[in-house]
Amino acid sequence: MNRETENNSIRMIFKNLPENEKISRTTAAVFAAETDPTMEELSDLKTVVSEAVTNAIIHAYPHGSGDIELYLKREGQTVYITVKDYGVGILDVARSMEPLYTTSEDQEHSGMGFTFMEAFSDSLDVTSEPGKGTVVKIIKMMGKEDEGGSDL
Ligand code: ATP
Ligand code: MG
Repeated sequence: MNRETENNSIRMIFKNLPENEKISRTTAAVFAAETDPTMEELSDLKTVVSEAVTNAIIHAYPHGSGDIELYLKREGQTVYITVKDYGVGILDVARSMEPLYTTSEDQEHSGMGFTFMEAFSDSLDVTSEPGKGTVVKIIKMMGKEDEGGSDL
């Protein structure tokens, strides 16, 4: 069996607890290590997973606890990430994705999460239904720096 060409996927379900951001981020990094990524690619991947999971933890269930699903899939050098919640949802997805848009009154949140997810990935797709929940799908291509580059 050739691990490099073997596709893989993993699914996690966890509660909206702050500690699950770190667990998600590090799990994604270990999972993606099979693609032989650069440090920068790994760091970018951790950022996008962290932002998506943090959003679900902080925004999806303002009134209590709820489940969050993280689905990671690898096909060759491409990593697919899905973060799903069954929370309050987003009324205006396009607006929520604008830089600096936030519904949080907390100074810690600047409204840059979706902007970072977009900047550090190859594709970002957000679907949401108020009262039903939100699904964030991200595609991240790894090993890009190796493409056609010199060996120097
Ligand atoms: P930052 O990410 O910079 O800490 P933020 O989380 O407010 O701040 P974004 O991540 O860009 O900024 O999200 C923008 C807005 O979209 C949030 O303020 C929130 O209203 C909404 N939102 C994002 N994810 C979810 C979610 N899973 N459920 C409900 N609302 C969400
Ligand atoms: Mg955010």
